[in-house]
Amino acid sequence: RTVYVNGQYLPETEATVSIFDRGFLMADGVYEVTSVLDGKLIDFDGHAVRLERSLNELDMRAACTKEELLEIHRELVRVNEITEGLIYLQITRGSDGDRDFIFPDPETTKPTIVMFTQNKPGLADSPAAKKGAKIISIEDIRWGRRDIKTVQLLYPSMGKMMAKAAGADDAWLIEDGHVTEGTSNNAYFVKNGKIVTRPLSTDILHGITRKAVLRMAEEAQMEVEERLFTIDEAKEADEAFTTSASAFVMPVVEIDGVVLGDGTPGPIATRLREIYLDESLKAAI
Ligand code: PLP
Repeated sequence: RTVYVNGQYLPETEATVSIFDRGFLMADGVYEVTSVLDGKLIDFDGHAVRLERSLNELDMRAACTKEELLEIHRELVRVNEITEGLIYLQITRGSDGDRDFIFPDPETTKPTIVMFTQNKPGLADSPAAKKGAKIISIEDIRWGRRDIKTVQLLYPSMGKMMAKAAGADDAWLIEDGHVTEGTSNNAYFVKNGKIVTRPLSTDILHGITRKAVLRMAEEAQMEVEERLFTIDEAKEADEAFTTSASAFVMPVVEIDGVVLGDGTPGPIATRLREIYLDESLKAAI
């Protein structure tokens, strides 16, 4: 596999980053994951805009322009012959060759940019989406700026391990009695035809897929309500689902052992997955 690191395309075994990099020492970095379908990028623009926002919130400099980013994405898709898969992009604050809590001077310390592809055949026509996901709920003990897409993913990883140990596929996070989001996705339930999801704030990541799916739901005359909700409401729902750039719309069929509906993906989640895949592919670049 060819990867990209700081201006160079290299075989993955030759790409290196300093051990003093603040991404490595302090999780001082941000990332994006863009999916590739039919060899094309899904919602590249949405990811580029959010990346810029994450960098700004952390007083970090952009490592390159949006046009350059698009070019690197396309080149990696081309050289690695990705038809269906993901592109991972990470920008960290870099390093001035020492460890210090104080940010290094941005005039003399360049950010580190790393990009690589993951080949994922079956991303769109996913067996997991046909089955639907089983979810457990766990306490949300992450930091308070979840709207910034940082590489601090230890607790989400632990949440996925807890789900796995419980025989489930993923976890939803609960804060002050309300669901915030999934470990790596936004969370929704559907009751009497109405889609409910938590409103945007610093408590959750502003999902690129969330934005697109909510727009498409409204265009399809579906009712959407953005409000806080409890896990008990979700357990009593007709159906539930999650959204993310890597799994699109993923139906949820079980929450904390409670089966939703007949235990198969619900009609609204199924329809939204179809609409999302169809429209995103048409708009892909
Ligand atoms: N929430 C969290 C915590 C995430 O990590 C992600 C994606 O990684 C999402 C939501 C979904 O965001 P997007 O649709 O932009 O992938």
